[in-house]
Formats: sequence, structure tokens, C-alpha cells
Amino acid sequence: MTERIGLIGLGIMGRGMAANLLRAGFTLRVWNRTRSRMEALIAQGAQPADSPADLAAHSDIIITCVSDTPDVEAVLLGEQGVIHGAQPGALVIDTSTISPQATRMIAERLAEHGIHMLDAPVSGGSEGAERGTLSIMVGGDAQQLERARPVLQAIGQTITHIGDHGAGQMAKLVNQILVVGNTLAMSEALLFAQAGGLDLERTLQAVSGGAAGSWMLSHRGPQILRRDWRPGFTIDLQQKDLRLVLEAADQLGTPVLATSLIFNLYRVLQQAGLGGEGNHALIKALERLSGISVGA
Ligand code: NAP
Repeated sequence: MTERIGLIGLGIMGRGMAANLLRAGFTLRVWNRTRSRMEALIAQGAQPADSPADLAAHSDIIITCVSDTPDVEAVLLGEQGVIHGAQPGALVIDTSTISPQATRMIAERLAEHGIHMLDAPVSGGSEGAERGTLSIMVGGDAQQLERARPVLQAIGQTITHIGDHGAGQMAKLVNQILVVGNTLAMSEALLFAQAGGLDLERTLQAVSGGAAGSWMLSHRGPQILRRDWRPGFTIDLQQKDLRLVLEAADQLGTPVLATSLIFNLYRVLQQAGLGGEGNHALIKALERLSGISVGA
């Protein structure tokens, strides 16, 4: 029997995943806190649910893609949460980026009701969610991952089993240290190129194909040159991830020098009311410090 899929959270990432699951032929039920966001998916063939519990009552595999740790807790364990509707044997796949420690606690609570869980945070941006090319980092039981694999293959390209519950979230935080380090390097380099009077487009072209190339440079570099700050990933959510890195690093006693610097640069932008802009707007913090504007 093909498993019935439910998806909770139709934001930038969730709506791309939902469209890809429908395209792959899965029976899909959706729930989103802001109901109007469900309409486009209903038009594409998804069934609407009244609550996370209602969605879970009609689903074998329940995917969540919401913002932060308390939000995952609310939709899974809250009053109208999945835990109150799911049948024993159901599988929850959490694709949000949240605390590894909280993930282990949530998995234990669900297990008390016979509900399995995988943490399966993703990387690849809004483009990856739309195209079904996400990189997925999985924590939890290997057998449940095999069960989930056809579903994960509909939304992602690289699926890696990292370890037990929470290990997927830890790998995602590793990913985020790399992402923001890349973003800062890109920002500093473009500012430097601007100050040196270089043609920025040609410079980007020249360095993108060599050892300095990165996803961030080829996807967000051109956006910076156009001064297009529309988010694939907002500063507010990026900052949430850095907070998770700093908390975990504190527990582990690990120094995270660059990440804490970048956390504070993003804080400056949040204070200026720019939290809804894309994470590549980090360059604006450097522009403010240097008085140089890029691509303007
Ligand atoms: P988004 O566009 O801001 O969407 C957030 C979603 O979470 C919305 O559907 C929102 O519902 C829902 N939500 C938030 N709090 C909730 C609550 N308390 N109860 C119920 N629903 C709640 O965010 P996104 O970019 O899709 O990101 C979602 C997750 O994926 C985050 O954990 C993020 O870190 C991760 N992620 C994002 C990217 C990216 O490039 N965007 C990449 C990898 C991972 P409403 O519509 O009602 O607000």
C-alpha cells in the first residue's frame, strides 16, 4: 500500500516540497496555520486538513516544515498536535531546522505513543525546494529512513543518514556554519572588488568557476549585484540557526569565532528592521561599516 502523506507548514520551503510530492504522485494532505496559504496546493490536488491532529489522523507519514523549535513542538505535541491524531506506527519527518537536543526529547515523547520520528533538515534554498534537489541530513532509525526514502527522493537529491535522533540537526548546524562563513567571505570580497573599481559581473564570472566558487557565490552573488534582497532564506531564520549553533557550541565547549561575529552582524541588520530580507543582505552590515555600496 502506498503511504498517505501529510505536510504541515507551507512556507517558502514547505510549498515547494508539497508541489514535488504531488508531482511524484503521492496522496497529500496539507495544513498551514495561515489557511489562505493552502489554496494553491489544494488547486494542485492536495486535501486540506483542519488541524495537525486531523492531518495526522489521515496520514501514515507526516512531514513538518515550520520555523523554530517551539513551532515544531506546537504542531507535534501541542493541543491540536500530531501526537493527538497519529496512529501507532506513523512516521514523523521533521524537515525544519531546530535544536538537536529538543529533537531527541520530541522523538522520545512521540515514541511513547508508538510514533516514529526522523529529523531530516534540508539544505539547498528555496530553489532546491522548488526543484526537488535538496540535500537532506537524516537522524533516526535506519529502517524508518528506508521507509521514508521514496518520499525524501521526491523532495531531495542527496539523502545522508548521519546517525541517531538529533544527528541530522547537528549536521545541519555544521552546514549553517559553512553557509554563513561563505556569505561573509562573499560580502567582503564583493566590497573589496567594488572599492578597487572592478567590473563586478566579470569578477564574479572569473572567480565562480575556480577554487573560490560556492553555491552562495553563484546563487546570491548576482542577486547582490542587482541589489535584490528578496529572501530565499530570511535573516530572521538565519539568525535562528546561528543561535542554535551558538547554544550547541556552548554546550560542547567549542569555539565558534566567525559564527559569533556573523551572528552579531546579522543582529545589527535585525535592529535596523531588515530581518525579513534574504541572508545575502549580510553585505549591508559591511556597507554600513565601510561607507562603500556594492553594485549601486
Ligand atoms: P517561512 O517561509 O517563514 O515559513 C514558515 C512556516 O512555518 C509557515 O508555514 C508558518 O505558518 C509556519 N509556522 C511558523 N510558526 C508556526 C507555529 N507556531 N505553528 C504553526 N505553523 C507555524 O520559512 P521557510 O523558509 O519555509 O523555513 C521553514 C524551515 O525550513 C525553517 O526551520 C528553516 O530554517 C528551514 N530551512 C529553510 C531554508 C530556506 O532557504 N528558506 C533552507 C533550509 C531550511 P504561517 O504561514 O501561518 O506563518
